Amino acid sequence: MDRRVTCLNCMDGRVQLPVLTWIKSNYPIDYVDVITEAGMDGVLAKQEDISEILRSIKVSINLNKSTKIFIVGHHDCRGNPVDVKLHRDEIHLAAERLKKEWPNHEVIGLWVNNTWNVERVSVQ
Ligand SMILES: [Zn+2]
Repeated sequence: MDRRVTCLNCMDGRVQLPVLTWIKSNYPIDYVDVITEAGMDGVLAKQEDISEILRSIKVSINLNKSTKIFIVGHHDCRGNPVDVKLHRDEIHLAAERLKKEWPNHEVIGLWVNNTWNVERVSVQ
């Protein structure tokens, strides 16, 4: 079985390669399943109905055997235009929300900063 993780990212094209490159450099994995929304961190933190996102995560975890979940927020996000501090809070809230659903999975929050470098901001 290949080694796989799940990444919940913004749909913004600027963050795809930095995030995939960072995850593959920092974890011994083969594939990253990517689920996107405009402003994913805000959607997971604030939107009541996230059933479509949960459906995708279930495919990644139950069928593809993903072992970790990453949640990404980023600088200059037009889908979730809040300040840096609120982004970090929302990444944390989003991680807590998903940790409740998958308590045995490590849930890792990432922040893509204003130089498009990736920082780990939450591990649950
Ligand atoms: Zn964005």
